[in-house]
Amino acid sequence: MESLPAVNDCGNVKVVVRVRKFIKRETDRGAQCLIKMDPITQQTTLLVPNDTDPANIRSQSRKVYEEKPFAFDKSFWSHDEADPHFSHQEDVYNSFGEEFLDHNFDGYHTCIFAYGQTGSGKSYTMMGTPEQPGLIPRTCEGLFQRIEAEQSANITYNVHVSYFEVYNEHVRDLLVPRTTPPQYLKIRESKADGVYVQNLTDEAVKSYDDVARLMRTGDHNRTTASTKMNDTSSRSHAVFTIMLKQIQHDMTTDETIERCARMRLVDLAGSERAKTTEATGQRLREGGNINQSLSTLGRVIGALSDPRRQRPRHPNDRKKRADVVPYRDSVLTWLLKDSLGGNSKTAMVACIAPSDYDETLSTLRYADQAK
Ligand code: ADP
Repeated sequence: MESLPAVNDCGNVKVVVRVRKFIKRETDRGAQCLIKMDPITQQTTLLVPNDTDPANIRSQSRKVYEEKPFAFDKSFWSHDEADPHFSHQEDVYNSFGEEFLDHNFDGYHTCIFAYGQTGSGKSYTMMGTPEQPGLIPRTCEGLFQRIEAEQSANITYNVHVSYFEVYNEHVRDLLVPRTTPPQYLKIRESKADGVYVQNLTDEAVKSYDDVARLMRTGDHNRTTASTKMNDTSSRSHAVFTIMLKQIQHDMTTDETIERCARMRLVDLAGSERAKTTEATGQRLREGGNINQSLSTLGRVIGALSDPRRQRPRHPNDRKKRADVVPYRDSVLTWLLKDSLGGNSKTAMVACIAPSDYDETLSTLRYADQAK
């Protein structure tokens, strides 16, 4: 296997933010948009009602707001379609999905996450709808278009897909029908393969249609459970993985070179705190596990984007750095270890609802510490 030059150390983690349109329950209650985005500076500003201001205390309708600005790599304004700066699904893909595909063809692993509270637009951004496909279908389509364009007598491509979910710190294969009791898969680690899920379905695919079929199967099998906040709120992290193998044949020497790149596309569980949904029992346990894995993910990404940890000054520091990045504190980060850090590129899309300052503030703070 070929060794790769290091990806630019400073730019391994990209953090972007996307605000969605109002949904029916927000228009019904006459909700107000509390987000501003500057298309030039990419600054995202959240307006937080200042509840200590006398004007706010006197009247509910005359709010005084405090502006909380945040700077990210990109701000996607998907709130108001009439605005010339409105970001469509295509714009989100064009702005970094394509670039990540370039990295994959160069042999690097990549990982894209959607983070945010339930109902903030994570699934819309990652999977989308049949009319408005999101990052996952667009990436797969782009992948096969490039394979078709670049395939030749001396280069062949091999693509495999897997789809699993992490639910309550257990791993479930999304490409097999659900059973009762649920069948959880074991996580293994080996020198040759790194961290992997034992017996996970790994399907060879030849076309976009093959992948689309697997996406549908997996989505159908994904865990959804009812909470007071949203009837179909997803309580699991769904990890869609595409493995691209390039096999180059040198006609003169008859040698072959293999390059493997893994693309991880992750729709994270809702980030809302357990108390918001008035959860009890099983739901409360789920909430605790979700909070734990999301906070570990935040710490892992934060550690990786910290330049002091990216560039060890002395070879002995490498060991220290590995100890500092807390991959093993959650199943999700442990499984994604190869796709985070090292020679890989990570992007986080922080999805926000336009009128919920409490959860939005916590999402923006989370995204901010991941930069
Ligand atoms: P999550 O996955 O975070 O729970 P969803 O992706 O299901 O949230 O989005 C909640 C609702 O908002 C869905 O009805 C979805 O179609 C809609 N939605 C989300 N983002 C957008 C967007 N950018 N444009 C239009 N509708 C959106």
